Amino acid sequence: MGWETSFNLLILLGQNIFLIQPIENNMILYNPTDHRSDNNTYIVQGFGIKNTSPSLLKDYQSICIWRNGEKYCLKGHNGVDLYCKRGELIYYNSPNVGRVYKVNNEDNNSAGCGIEIISKEDGQYYKHTYWHFIAGSIKHKVGDIVFCGQQIGLGDSTGWSTGDHLHYMVKPCDKDGNIDFWDNGYFGAIDPTPYMVLNTFAKDRLKITIKGLILQLLIRLIKIKYV
Ligand SMILES: [Zn+2]
Repeated sequence: MGWETSFNLLILLGQNIFLIQPIENNMILYNPTDHRSDNNTYIVQGFGIKNTSPSLLKDYQSICIWRNGEKYCLKGHNGVDLYCKRGELIYYNSPNVGRVYKVNNEDNNSAGCGIEIISKEDGQYYKHTYWHFIAGSIKHKVGDIVFCGQQIGLGDSTGWSTGDHLHYMVKPCDKDGNIDFWDNGYFGAIDPTPYMVLNTFAKDRLKITIKGLILQLLIRLIKIKYV
């Protein structure tokens, strides 16, 4: 049994006590911020050419990387930008456990600060990237296991950014974090919007899981004492 399976079974146990839907087979992503919205208004810039701010499209398309002798350039915005002010809490947002893959906690050369976390959803690994954090606000290190709703940093505008927001990006990858589709026009990123449950909050899921686990423990203790 892999580490993901063991941890996810633990979460499943916690969540099922409260009869919340169990861990989903397909990817479900909760709101990594604290903002509620009825009409997706907290997405300040969407994914892809159509949803990229017209004034920024040319800038995105000029971002290119060389890989194995081939040049790859962005077609447009390769994530979603979520509304958040400086200092706001950001949470890991997949119901499945994640493993911290990369941490950039110092704003060297204006690259900006953020964290990358790998999770496994229905047999496929995904790299979740959260960017533009306040320098020094990430308390996790590479290899740490994170649960849905755990705080992963504080929002800001570090790196290539025109104002405070969270850049959230999802890339299918392998177990070691190698990106599956470098040549898809978005450096391997897919549009996370169809998977996002906009008004369900990652931090609430954490509370449910913890409550469930405590209750499970109490039931066991009572059974040991009286049965
Ligand atoms: Zn962005």
